[in-house]
Amino acid sequence: RPTVGVLALQGDVREHAAALEAAGARPVAVRRADQLVVRDGLADPGLDALVLPGGESTTMSRLLRSFGMLAPLRELVGAGLPVLGSCAGMVLLADRVDNAGAGQEQVGGLDVTVRRNAFGRQVDSYEEDIVAPLLGAGPDNPLHAVFIRAPWVEQAGPGVEILATTRAGRAGQEGRGARGRIVAVRQGSVLATSFHPEVGGDHRIHDLFVAMAARPS
Ligand code: GLN
Repeated sequence: RPTVGVLALQGDVREHAAALEAAGARPVAVRRADQLVVRDGLADPGLDALVLPGGESTTMSRLLRSFGMLAPLRELVGAGLPVLGSCAGMVLLADRVDNAGAGQEQVGGLDVTVRRNAFGRQVDSYEEDIVAPLLGAGPDNPLHAVFIRAPWVEQAGPGVEILATTRAGRAGQEGRGARGRIVAVRQGSVLATSFHPEVGGDHRIHDLFVAMAARPS
């Protein structure tokens, strides 16, 4: 059972912990910099992977800064610790952010530009069965995604795998022929989703992530 930390400064920590348990991992709350010590390129003591949950990315980045956790987190991501970011967590992992909050800082590690609050202020939450063949989604096995004031990926670098998009012509997309928006990506050991895989009982993202934690790439 891999031990997976969940950053527990703010956001939907309990939902991620429950989803990790369901996917066969042992979740632990991470609240202090001394839980993010890097030794020989690995987290010490004993984190096999780390989740950055949904919540509010500007608040989370301020808390990370004031608790001295931003630099160790960057070091761990750089060292290849498997990391999953959902929603606000995706925003934190992006190297570049459009519409960032005041004073917002990035953990970084994911060569993408995300647009924060991309699905629009008035549309606070939005759900659809997304297009995600690489995650095993199809007509018989849809992946239902819940978006809450969610970002999307505007641009992804060449090393970034696109795992899921929204369907073209749905909410948050203007005009005819609009392309689906990128809502799940992976680059090496970094996995990120615009939506909340910890909500709704479909554990495919957590299953993939726990497999990444068990066999770091
Ligand atoms: N809008 C939030 C942010 O910018 C993310 C919302 C969420 O995580 N549900 O961080």
